[in-house]
Amino acid sequence: MFHSVNSKVNFPQVEENILNFWRNNNVFERSVESRRGSPRFVFYEGPPTANGSPGIHHVLARVFKDIIPRYKAMKGYYTPRIAGWDTHGLPVELEVERELGFSSKAQIEEYGVDRFNTRCRESVFGYLKEWEAMTERIAFWVDLKHPYITMDNKYIETVWWAIKQMWDKGLVYQGYRVTPHCPRCGTSLSSHEVALGYRDDVEDPSVYIKFKVVPSPISESEEQKRLYELSREKPAYFLAWTTTPWTLPGNTALAVAADAEYVVVELDNEYLIMASALLKQVGLDDCEVVERLKGSDLATITGVNYKPLFNPHDFGVERRRFQGQSELVPQEPDDKLTYRLIATDFVSLEEGTGIVHMAPAYGEVDYEAGKDKELDFVHTVDLQGNIIGTYPFAGKFVKEADPLILDDLKSRGLLYRSEKIRHTYPFCWRCETPLLYYAKQTWYIRTTAVKEGLIAGNNEINWYPEHIKHGRFGDWLENNVDWAFSRERYWGTPLPVWKCESCNKYECAGGVKDLKERAGFTGLKEPLDLHRPFVDELTFDCPECGARMRRVPEVIDCWFDSGAMPLAQWHYPFENDTLLEDGRFPADYICEADEQTRGWFYSLHAISTLLFNRPCFRNVIGHGLILDVKGEKMSKTKGNMVEPWAVINKYGADALRWYLFIATSPGNVRRFSEKSVAEITRRFLLTLWNVYSFFVTYANIDRFTPDAEATLSFQSELDKWIISELNQLVVDVDTALDGYNPTEAGRKIESFVNDLSNWYVRRSRRRFWKSENDADKRSAYTTLYQCLVTLSKLLAPFTPFLAEELYQNLVSSVFPEAPDSVHLADFPVADVTKIDKQLVADTQLVMKISSLGRAARSQAGIKVRQPLAHVVVSVASNKEQESLERLKPQILEELNVKDLEFIDSVAELGKPGYVVSSEGNCAVAIPTEISPELAGEGLAREIVHRLQVMRRSAGFDIADYIVTYYQGEAYIRQVMVDYADYIKQETLSRQLIERVPGEGAFTESFKLGGYDILLGVKRLG
Ligand SMILES: [Zn+2]
Ligand SMILES: [Zn+2]
Repeated sequence: MFHSVNSKVNFPQVEENILNFWRNNNVFERSVESRRGSPRFVFYEGPPTANGSPGIHHVLARVFKDIIPRYKAMKGYYTPRIAGWDTHGLPVELEVERELGFSSKAQIEEYGVDRFNTRCRESVFGYLKEWEAMTERIAFWVDLKHPYITMDNKYIETVWWAIKQMWDKGLVYQGYRVTPHCPRCGTSLSSHEVALGYRDDVEDPSVYIKFKVVPSPISESEEQKRLYELSREKPAYFLAWTTTPWTLPGNTALAVAADAEYVVVELDNEYLIMASALLKQVGLDDCEVVERLKGSDLATITGVNYKPLFNPHDFGVERRRFQGQSELVPQEPDDKLTYRLIATDFVSLEEGTGIVHMAPAYGEVDYEAGKDKELDFVHTVDLQGNIIGTYPFAGKFVKEADPLILDDLKSRGLLYRSEKIRHTYPFCWRCETPLLYYAKQTWYIRTTAVKEGLIAGNNEINWYPEHIKHGRFGDWLENNVDWAFSRERYWGTPLPVWKCESCNKYECAGGVKDLKERAGFTGLKEPLDLHRPFVDELTFDCPECGARMRRVPEVIDCWFDSGAMPLAQWHYPFENDTLLEDGRFPADYICEADEQTRGWFYSLHAISTLLFNRPCFRNVIGHGLILDVKGEKMSKTKGNMVEPWAVINKYGADALRWYLFIATSPGNVRRFSEKSVAEITRRFLLTLWNVYSFFVTYANIDRFTPDAEATLSFQSELDKWIISELNQLVVDVDTALDGYNPTEAGRKIESFVNDLSNWYVRRSRRRFWKSENDADKRSAYTTLYQCLVTLSKLLAPFTPFLAEELYQNLVSSVFPEAPDSVHLADFPVADVTKIDKQLVADTQLVMKISSLGRAARSQAGIKVRQPLAHVVVSVASNKEQESLERLKPQILEELNVKDLEFIDSVAELGKPGYVVSSEGNCAVAIPTEISPELAGEGLAREIVHRLQVMRRSAGFDIADYIVTYYQGEAYIRQVMVDYADYIKQETLSRQLIERVPGEGAFTESFKLGGYDILLGVKRLG
């Protein structure tokens, strides 16, 4: 006997019981260990940060991470899965800064780096318990007891080793460069971090500034001479456009397009100079053009210069000048300072004025031009983003200084026009501060040196969805820039670079032993902690000059930490030095949000390519964004976050998993809707549950026990058909999961369950119901049993709880020698000899004809319960007609008709007295006339239906025998007598008694076919 299954089910409750079962029986560990010795399937966990609650997007990633290894384990692979935690970096520091109420690095330094980092270390695991609980509850099977943790000394040591490898290959360098800088966090961001924080529709100033021409008699050409003459007549200005007024005090040049035409126009007794192509856009096309000249005529050393908007020497700011590659030489104060124009190839004639303001300290292009043309270099902003010096707007944050700078320029007549613009601008992805492009020294990894290897390696990776490969990821690699990987912060893997105090020599350390072996090494304290500030105490002798070497202050980008996990989780090469050969590298599978093409996917790929010139993952699912039901991004401030626990506690983890797998392909952007979870529960999980409950209920009544060796010769076409469909399903699901397509696989299962419930079980109901235990009945039980058991195994990777429930009751309770969990069982193997394509096609045709027949009945307003004399059918071919003749009994029963007639063409069906329903080449016509005999039979069936509903309402068991009472008009009494045997059999009535129902009977009255009837049912003791 199977344990009884109520058709009403509380999935969350069922799941809690299963969780206990897994926990008590170590099912996850055994599901891994039982396959030890088989080929490995390697999964890398992209480590989340456990300093905040897991959200619905984490659940999304985690269920897709889970399903593939579960499937592979059932396919016989040895599939250990190790959890990981990302513990370093800005997110953690920001959280602690918030707790401490800090807003600057100075406050951290004052508080003490050791105390600050201790707080970070504690904060990292603030939500660990919740993460573990969520991970277990959604059945993401991963080893939580032995996770890798990026802040462990061993982990850091491997990261150091990796950096040292790159250092030795000359791939690590320090560049004085313009980098995207977060003034709040006080650190540079890598380009992939910048990519995470672009915002559209940001409002900024759009201003046209006048730079006063300083006339010089020393002219190099006729054009310049004329310009000189003009500028002596009236004040003349170069007109330039910018959206970042705060960079104007740092201006040291204006750039023009060498080949473009520039004009001098007259406006309000002044001359303005700009590109002729943009006159209209700037609104100066009505002005008189007094001179035309080429960009190259403007860009000369001596001829035409302009006066700085702000002479740095007047405001206590240092002026330097580029010299050679990157030397910046301080310049003497000069109260006659002028700057010049330069001709370049990057000046746009699409927007602005064709004259571009250059601030080499605040733009990548500007910096390069500065180096190239040996321009002046002026920093007017500190690393916190505040204006320095004695400017009237000194001390202000740059964005707050913008309007003050414009006011200042306006008062001096140097502002031509001021507007607002909406454009795309990058913000810090962590703290949402606008980024500043800022020239400073940063450590780089020369990833551009291995660009070809990055691209070649990507060709070996299978991306799901495929378009990421040459789209998002491929583009990113094609446009590769060196990885700015140092951070001027505290809580991170320290950059293992030491610098000599005396001769400026740099050394990189590749591990603790490497350090200890260096001459004069000192400063090591126990217990070992490789973080700041302790690592800053470690010093040794300079191999060049013998002076002290001290570590540089930077830590590294935490994306480097997580990208090093293939090695660092194993403390390679200090331990596990066979890693690259023994099957643990590369990974077969990883999965994260597709935005990780610039995050973890990239850092994994870059590090692996830099070290080994090969990729470290073979297959990757990149899932899309998860939005709220209206398609808006979820955020705490909007209050539209989906709380995963609420969904799980209401519907269960399987429902949420199934929804996430099935609703849309992983790569698509999805809108989360709780309503859809409810809908999918009803449509799929409850449908399957009802089939399961139906099976167990009847099997227990009939004391059916499955036979392990059941070699059935199936009698019924229905059985043959569903077994064919089942085996086809096994093939389809196996193929789809093997192709990393859980959505496709799940949809096939859903469609099968739908057929199983709405066709197989519905059409087979009477076979289970008949009391004789004949071969046909046994065939029906065995068939349905086989379907449910196979489904439990196919579903195990998708809905591990429901699969386990089915398996425990249907298999474990009967076959003690079988694996004691569905997750220890093997994935089903299809018996392709059982696949009968013809039968499948025929059955589909029957379904179609039935559906058309029901549509015709509904059009005619005739219930299916009312038998009809015949149905007329037209199909596409003789072959189809033969198929239908073979399956005729099914159609007669489905449509409740006595006979089936065929005609050749749909056109012939338009006879009076018929209602037709058609689709393509198929049509079905039903007669609308009903004979008195058929009407009586229809009424009998209606009465049976009412009695069956009453039995349920009265709470009778389906196997209970009853007595039925009735009262009604003569016609009713006649039907009760004429169809007595039929009614008794269908309703398990021992007797049909015509009188008022007695004491204890369940009674109801109806109007059927225009006649009043009173019915009563009473259970027999
Ligand atoms: Zn920031
Ligand atoms: Zn030295």
